[in-house]
Amino acid sequence: MPNYYVNTDPQSTGENEVHENGCKHGPLASKQKSLGWHSSCSLAIAEAKKHYSKVDGCYYCANACHTR
Ligand SMILES: [Zn+2]
Repeated sequence: MPNYYVNTDPQSTGENEVHENGCKHGPLASKQKSLGWHSSCSLAIAEAKKHYSKVDGCYYCANACHTR
């Protein structure tokens, strides 16, 4: 089960991206807000939505939850 985090810096389009720990395309460590362990990216997205209204999965590490 991967550990997820959300980028505290939104994309230019307004979404905060959710990544798995270790993603090479993620932000600097200082911009990573931990979401904890989740069995799927959709659960990590749900957790991230408690903090941010617009959330999307990373194209590279959470492709199943990537919608934009
Ligand atoms: Zn990623």
